[in-house]
Amino acid sequence: MSIKVLPDQVASQIAAGEVVERPASVVKELVENAIDAGATTIYVEVRGGGRQLIQVADNGAGIAADEVETAFFRHATSKLRTADDLQAIATLGFRGEALATMAAVSKVTMVTRTDGEAAGTRLTLEGGHVTSRDAVGAPRGAVVAVEELFYNVPARLKFLKSIVTEKRLIDELITRYALAYPHIRFRLTHDGRVTFQTGGNGRLLEVLVAVYGPEIARQLMEIETDEPSSISVAGYVSPPSLHWANRSQIMLYVNGRWIKDTQLTYAVIQAYHTLLPVGRYPLGLIFLTLPLDQVDVNVHPAKTEVRFRDSNAVFGAVQRAVRQTLVADSPIRPLTQLTTAVPSDWSGDLDHEAFTRADYPLPQGRLELDWSPEPDSPPLVGRPAEAAAPLMNLGGQRLPIMRVVGQVGAAYVITEGPDGLYLIDQHAAHERILYEQFMAQWNQHQVQAQGLINGAAVHLSPAQATLLGGHLELLARLGFEVEPFGPNTFMVRAMPSLLIRLDPAQALLAVVEDLEREDAPLQDKVEAKIIRRVCKTAAVKAGQPLSMAEMEALVRQLEACQNPHTCPHGRPTLIHLSVAQLARQFGRT
Ligand code: ADP
Ligand code: MG
Repeated sequence: MSIKVLPDQVASQIAAGEVVERPASVVKELVENAIDAGATTIYVEVRGGGRQLIQVADNGAGIAADEVETAFFRHATSKLRTADDLQAIATLGFRGEALATMAAVSKVTMVTRTDGEAAGTRLTLEGGHVTSRDAVGAPRGAVVAVEELFYNVPARLKFLKSIVTEKRLIDELITRYALAYPHIRFRLTHDGRVTFQTGGNGRLLEVLVAVYGPEIARQLMEIETDEPSSISVAGYVSPPSLHWANRSQIMLYVNGRWIKDTQLTYAVIQAYHTLLPVGRYPLGLIFLTLPLDQVDVNVHPAKTEVRFRDSNAVFGAVQRAVRQTLVADSPIRPLTQLTTAVPSDWSGDLDHEAFTRADYPLPQGRLELDWSPEPDSPPLVGRPAEAAAPLMNLGGQRLPIMRVVGQVGAAYVITEGPDGLYLIDQHAAHERILYEQFMAQWNQHQVQAQGLINGAAVHLSPAQATLLGGHLELLARLGFEVEPFGPNTFMVRAMPSLLIRLDPAQALLAVVEDLEREDAPLQDKVEAKIIRRVCKTAAVKAGQPLSMAEMEALVRQLEACQNPHTCPHGRPTLIHLSVAQLARQFGRT
């Protein structure tokens, strides 16, 4: 074959592969354009996982009528003029490729209007060619609809993953941008259903709640660093008690751009050295700000890789900032600090579907290695504490003062007392502590409740919902402020302060389970049972590594219990091996 310059159409299809790999890349480019245009509202509508339709609507600056076609030319951009400008890129886009490539491999419609114009412009393109253009009424901003992606590139179509996967990739992408731009109101719709949205009020914590659910969001720690440097590090990290099976929760941003960087990801992981179990990873939301000329973003067409002028300095800055945050934060934290009362201006008109979708994942640290018998099964040792009886009269023997030695099997705390060694079952012990604290408040009619940042919507089966609906007053006395919130859904506005670590959904399910068990329960017994049950659910599980300070706190609180020897269901909380027993075992006597 002789050498020929490829026709434009073919060239742009080849180039398209680099910029527009899949539906999520289209979403990425369109959202980046909207952000660059100064939008404060970005609505993303997806159909069929993006194969059918991707539409991004923004209220940004828009494109003037005489430039709309130009925007679709290759290498047409308003963000760059000279090669020198490449040294200091302040916008997300700069290559001038996205619209052109999208248009080459799909059917695109753009409707846009700038501030000064009376009418907007609608332009349609098919396979890169303009097929129509008219003036239309339109709000300020731009709407770009990309239909039938890759309709003319069958090879590309074949490589798309399942609709579910493509949807998930889009979800992740929107989540990432929502986290980086809390002052932008995002809304994502899949096949007509709103699946995610943020308020755009600038509060990152609220976006974190929308993404991770209140339980996890509440535990995240804001990065604190007092290091004066041209490299600023901000964001959030998870406490060592929360961890994930992979690195996907480590998200890095440089000057507002989400990037992939294995080195920096490792910097975050390294900051957790010895704090996390092997094979588990933290969450790190890392926002780096550094002088524009210190970063080269022109590395790859997808713009998700960057080069740092001084990568060692950046690595160190990230690692130190994360480590400092972890160290500064005392391991057992007064959780009250992080939760705010339900704001009084909360109008309750959240988008219902979007809100319930936050499917509050369990903190991964709490492995369900829980071997305890059901509450109603006979106790193994001792007798179950009688909830209604005054605690003082139970006459349990107090514990000696103990020194924490360590943890074994991520389930038992080893301590040393005046006469030998103690093995404390962390779950049973914590259950006992929570239970006694709760009962003390309950007996004094002073159960302390604490508002949830945004409330938490919990979905139940219709049967469970009916059951729960009949017991809302009882729950209120126990510190759970719960109200109906749509079909089979309840909004948890407040929880007992003692249980604030607990996922609201888990707590409600535990309550419902106990209600289900009872046919015609006596009121006070139900309450005691519910307290036992929620304390059990809230107690730290076996399988969760504890720091020294956490173990100290656990032991001190257990020492303060009236009945420290058994959990509320009667199982032992600790095993004692006396010095004499040890001596016998070693054949010393
Ligand atoms: P780039 O973003 O790299 O400049 P694009 O192909 O994505 O290239 O966009 C080309 C140009 O079209 C942009 O530089 C911008 O001027 C204009 N543009 C694209 N999308 C929008 C939008 N949503 N609002 C306003 N202008 C836009
Ligand atoms: Mg762009």
